[in-house]
Parts: sequence; structure tokens; C-alpha cells
Amino acid sequence: MRLRSYFIETWGCQMNRHDSELIAGQLRAHGLAPAVTALGADLVVLNTCSVRERPVHKVVSRIGALASLPEPPVIGVCGCVAEQEGASLLERSGAVGFVVGPGEVRRLGEALSALERGERPVLTGFDPADTPGGDEIVRASSTRGMVTVVEGCNEFCTFCVVPYTRGRERSRALAEVLTEVRGLAAAGLREVELLGQTINSYRCPVTGAAFADLLQAVAAIPGLARVRYVTSHPRHFDERLIATLAACPQVSRYLHLPFQSGSDRILARMHRRSTRAEYLDLIARLRESVPGINLSTDVIVGFPGEEEGDFQDSLALLEEVRFGQVFAFAFSPRPRTPAARYRAQVPETTKKERLHRLFEVSDRISLELNRQLVGSTVEVLIDGESRRDQGWWQGRGEDNRVLNFPKTGREALGDIVGVQVVAAGAHALIGERPDPSTLLPVIKRGAGAA
Ligand code: SF4
Repeated sequence: MRLRSYFIETWGCQMNRHDSELIAGQLRAHGLAPAVTALGADLVVLNTCSVRERPVHKVVSRIGALASLPEPPVIGVCGCVAEQEGASLLERSGAVGFVVGPGEVRRLGEALSALERGERPVLTGFDPADTPGGDEIVRASSTRGMVTVVEGCNEFCTFCVVPYTRGRERSRALAEVLTEVRGLAAAGLREVELLGQTINSYRCPVTGAAFADLLQAVAAIPGLARVRYVTSHPRHFDERLIATLAACPQVSRYLHLPFQSGSDRILARMHRRSTRAEYLDLIARLRESVPGINLSTDVIVGFPGEEEGDFQDSLALLEEVRFGQVFAFAFSPRPRTPAARYRAQVPETTKKERLHRLFEVSDRISLELNRQLVGSTVEVLIDGESRRDQGWWQGRGEDNRVLNFPKTGREALGDIVGVQVVAAGAHALIGERPDPSTLLPVIKRGAGAA
């Protein structure tokens, strides 16, 4: 079987998006060319996520839809559902040609060779000695690049499937990370996003350097204007890291810091190993050292045993912290996790109703915060055309807020420009660049660090 073209469909988090870049790199190295859509591609790779609800159902229904095309492609299943379901996916449909879990994604070339020999390979599991890095990567963006720093997780929160689907924590050598980031800066990328499930527990396996050291070293790389990082765990945030955020202007004034629940009783059941008071204390210290830092968070509603009072604690925490963005989810039991077996599961109707109430609060707060920015000038890195209108640019402020503004002809993709905020929604800002003399100068791509 000779495959010539591929198309990748990606579900889930930043990690998965970056894995898709890695998958694309390996497919190209194997001689396949990208197709514009799944229709007409010889191979469709489903890079799946099982962190949220009904993932297997979604993947199986997508496999069914692709298999029933007049000229069905070969389907490859990657990502967390591949790890979770393994060989059983081959039984679901004859169109599935291979199954490769996140821990084996670097062996995709081997899977393709086996497929060409008429086999249907299944590669799952993890090699603890295998650390991320040194891969062929096809970058989806020419302005921002993702770089894996830590793979896997040791936290074992009772609701989360990641330690089972991505394995135990493996940090990458600091020198290797720096080499990759220098390469991105040399290629003209302006922003780098460092990735890890609990990135602030990073520890260099060679030198023992901590995440603060890594961040400092990355921020000092010439040509790089911005450094972002996801995701941080509250219990691994120390004073040195806070001081580093405050001292490095290249490090984005943005932090994603999941709190998951505002109730200590629920936090203990989640095995978060940090309390509400510790979380609030950390936020206070962060705000003192990095004024104006934009915070986003993850929160789960309807965790087993969550009562109205616990939920009210989560709402109160939202009001107290005032996050710029909230990613909220109704609890859904994940295979192999302890919380799936907990008693006192919350009825679906209650979860839905709580989620709705939570979004009402979080959207109101996001809107209030965004409205405070109307009239100010924001430094925006242009990273593409607006999806709704080709006459508009879309970019992000250095605090990671999304901003759309009409093109003026004086700026280009990858430039950093001053944009005046003229209107605000809960999830994005609208801006304009009416008078160049009143605005920040444009920092052209390739002109060095901002
Ligand atoms: S810290 Fe908890 S929620 Fe985050 S990836 Fe690890 S186990 Fe999952």
C-alpha cells in the first residue's frame, strides 16, 4: 500500500496540537504530502483527546463517517484515545490502519512502514527513558512556535486521565530546549510557547535546573519577543519563579493556573494537594510582583460529592480572583481514574445547570475586565487574518488577550504593532490603528526582541 497524501484532524489541548505538528513532520519525512481536506487524502490521522466527555464515541463516529466515503482513506488513530483503547480500535473498523499512542508518536514512521507491508500496527505504552525532542516538526504557525519541555504527569488528580495516557513526567534537557528555541527565533518566529502538563515542576535531567532557570534562559534568546508557558500547577509555584516572571519582560504577563474547585473538601477528593487559601495566597503574591498579570484557569463542576455549597465556593473564588478567561467543564468519569468509581455522582441536569451559572459569572467578569482596556493601546503580535474577515488581522496582546483590528496596509504577519482598543467582548477585543503618530511604532519581524 503506497500512501501519498495525509490530513490530520486534531482534538484537545496544546499538547495535542503540538503532537499534530510532530505527526505532520514524520508523515512528510515518509514522503507524504499534506491534503487540503480529509476528502481525497490517502491517510487521515485522528489525533484524539480523552480528557473530556465521550471521546471514544466521537472518534468511533468519525471513523464510521470516513469509512463510508466513496473512496475511504486509511485511518490512523493517535492521541489519548489510541492509548486508552489500543487494538480494540482495529476491531471497530477495517478502515483503521494503525493505532499509535502519545508515548509512541515518535515511532510513527515505523508504523507507516508496517502499514505498507500490509500490517495493522498498534504502538502504545511509554518508555520512561524516552524524552521528547529532536523531532521533525511541521510548524502550523510562522509567528508562534510550541516547544515541549515536560511530557506526562506525576500528579494523579483523581479525575484526570493524563498520567495514564501520557505516562509519568519526563523533563527534557535544558540545552536541548534552548537549541530548539534558538532555531525558532532564527527562523523568524516571534513567540514561543513552552508546553508541559505541569510545566513548573520541570527539572533538567542533566543539570537539575528548575523551570525558573529555563524560563530565564529562553527569555534571553535574541530575536524572541515573547515567551509563554502552559500549564502550571499551584503547588509547584515558588518565589523564584514569581521573581523570574517579574524580572523578564519577554515572559508574557499571562498565567494559566487551574484551581479546579473552590472547595477544600472537593480539592482533597480531587487529590490536588493544594488548598483554596494556598491558591489565593499565591494569586496575591503573583499580583504583587507582576501587576496586571492576566490569569486564566480551569474549573470542574459536578465533581462526585460536590454539593451546592461547594459549588458556591467555586463561584466565590471566581468573584474574588476575577480571571480574564475561564475554561469550565462538567465532570465526566474517565476510564481508569479513581473519581469514575466514586459514589455520589452528581446528576447530569445539576452539572449542566451549574456550568451555565458558572459561565454567566465568568463571562460577566471577563467582559468587565476587557471593557477596562477600551481606550488603551495594546502591543499586538499579529498571528493571522481574522477567521471572520480577511480584511482584518487577529493577534494577541502580551497578556495573551485576543484582539482583532482592520488591516491598514502598514503592518504584516509577525509584526508587533500598537493597537487602540475601541470595543470589548467577553472573549476578544476590537481595535484600530487610526493615526500612526499616536501609536507605538511597528516592530517589524526580524528586527529583534521587543
Ligand atoms: S496535574 Fe492533575 S489535571 Fe493536570 S495533567 Fe496532571 S493529573 Fe491531570
